[in-house]
Amino acid sequence: MERYSKHLRPALDDLKPYVAGKGFGEISRRYGLRPEEIVKLGSNENPYGPTPLVREALQGVAAERYPEPEELVEALARYAGLPHEMVMIGAGMDGAMDTLSRLFLEKGDRTFIPIPTFSYYEILTSLAGATPLFLPRGEQFEVPEMPRDVKMAFLCSPNNPTGNITDNEQVRAMLESSDAIIFLDEAYVEFAESSLADLVREYQNLVVGRTMSKAFGLAGMRLGYALAPEWIADQYRRAAPPYFGVSCATVAAGIAALEDLDYMRRIVGKIKKERARLQKETSSHPSQANFLYISTAEPSHVVAERFLQKGIIIRDCRSFRGAGDHHIRVTVGTPEQNDRFLNAYSEICA
Ligand code: PMP
Repeated sequence: MERYSKHLRPALDDLKPYVAGKGFGEISRRYGLRPEEIVKLGSNENPYGPTPLVREALQGVAAERYPEPEELVEALARYAGLPHEMVMIGAGMDGAMDTLSRLFLEKGDRTFIPIPTFSYYEILTSLAGATPLFLPRGEQFEVPEMPRDVKMAFLCSPNNPTGNITDNEQVRAMLESSDAIIFLDEAYVEFAESSLADLVREYQNLVVGRTMSKAFGLAGMRLGYALAPEWIADQYRRAAPPYFGVSCATVAAGIAALEDLDYMRRIVGKIKKERARLQKETSSHPSQANFLYISTAEPSHVVAERFLQKGIIIRDCRSFRGAGDHHIRVTVGTPEQNDRFLNAYSEICA
């Protein structure tokens, strides 16, 4: 084996694989539960799913053809209020971030990652052979000062898992005071009070990441996009995989979802209402996303396991570097799912 494994890139030595939320299959097998008995609140999905227009659109998908994503890019550009030249698509925002990191990062580079946050930034940095600089967020989870000589900074707003947004003025100050490329992840922006996406018109070193996985309920379709000044978007199109890694189903679903913004806004409204209820009942940190970050008296893995035994999947935040071992993250579900969570919460965390 060593004869061949010596060919692996040394950057893989530092790789900490991505830890996804637990799925229905695993929990159903482990606890002998039927999938319909399980409440999945561990992956920040949208419990309502997409507009019915998506189901219709998927029926007309030509499986034998390669995708033609132009119309989708136009629709995303209209939604984002930017010209299509500034819009880049990918297989999930993960796919878009992967291509972006290949534009900029190589061995010897440093990235700035305020923690706790989404772990894929670290994985992309390590895979490129670059060095992540992890700095802890403040008391209110605010972003600390950026170190010098950083090539890329990864800011997540609203931040996963803490739910807070990053201040407009702070992002502007970072963009102006350094020549780092700032990647601002707005995966959860539809649930937040404000977006900073318009700043991509003003700054040549800002990329804003977005996804159709959350508010639009298309996590399974793997459709993400990024907004950036044209010089970055041009390079992105050169380095991206063929068809940007998306499928005909992705394209059809994305276009259909963007045709029904009223549906998306209605669902987001319901989730925000339930978020307020859950936040009050659990006295958790305020959140501008579709999840809550909750401190636990007992170690988080013990708490998460007790929820699992009741068929409720939540996230033990130990997998987030810098979150410690006394936090869980809970996705806001439907009112019925949230009731199940709250009943269990009152027994487990009382
Ligand atoms: N950024 C953040 C902060 C996320 O939480 C997620 C989803 N877990 C993503 C990006 C990736 O989203 P997508 O499904 O579009 O790849």
